[in-house]
Amino acid sequence: MDDICENIRRVKERIAAAAGRSRRDPSDVELLAVSKSWPAEVIREAIDAPHLLFGENKVQEASLKIPQLPSKAKWHLIGNLQKNKIRKALLLFPVIHSIDSLDLAQHVERIADELGRFPDVYLQVNIAGESAKLGFSPDQIHFDLDELLNLKRLHILGLMLIPPFDPDPEKSRPYYARLRELRESLESAGGVPLPGLSMGMSHDYETAIEEGSTIVRVGTAIFGKRGRAATKSAKR
Ligand SMILES: *Cc1c(COP(=O)(O)O)cnc(C)c1O
Repeated sequence: MDDICENIRRVKERIAAAAGRSRRDPSDVELLAVSKSWPAEVIREAIDAPHLLFGENKVQEASLKIPQLPSKAKWHLIGNLQKNKIRKALLLFPVIHSIDSLDLAQHVERIADELGRFPDVYLQVNIAGESAKLGFSPDQIHFDLDELLNLKRLHILGLMLIPPFDPDPEKSRPYYARLRELRESLESAGGVPLPGLSMGMSHDYETAIEEGSTIVRVGTAIFGKRGRAATKSAKR
């Protein structure tokens, strides 16, 4: 069995080391434990570690698990958000990493207003221009910036990126560096701070931290391979 507690300890150690290498304070990098596909009883092991910050990618799946777990756990949505799930998402997740268009941002704004919520959000950027991936292009986000900043309910923390997958973390580095540069150019264009960079996954989070990540989204390195989730829960 994977020792989730030990895995979290090890990942946090490596986060601190990567932060140190880039002369950053380790407390400036949050660890979002990506618990998608894992059942509540597995997530509870992480909560007992204790670790309290989790990422889920599906609103429906999260809506079944979150009520089973202690309310001290905090949940971020990291997956594609469909318009018909916005209301449910806002009730479950104080932070959304996947605002991928102005249109979606405007819908979230309207429903947040109805619900009296002020969600924290990251704007998802498709830096590599991959056709299969959602997200603002760098040009589009510059174009939409003023309108995004005018949305009074949305508190924009910064940018989020899922780079093209490559097992070699050095292949991700240029994308992470470009997201940081994009953040800097948006900050000067909009005259606002955008401190958050949601970037880095199990195989490349240390590289992402060296390039300025402020929150890494780590699943496999904590919980193990997701294909095993079903058998693991069936055994319990
Ligand atoms: C699943 C997922 C992760 C975590 O991936 P691992 O490789 O398991 O660490 C991070 N970000 C997003 C958006 C994901 O969907």
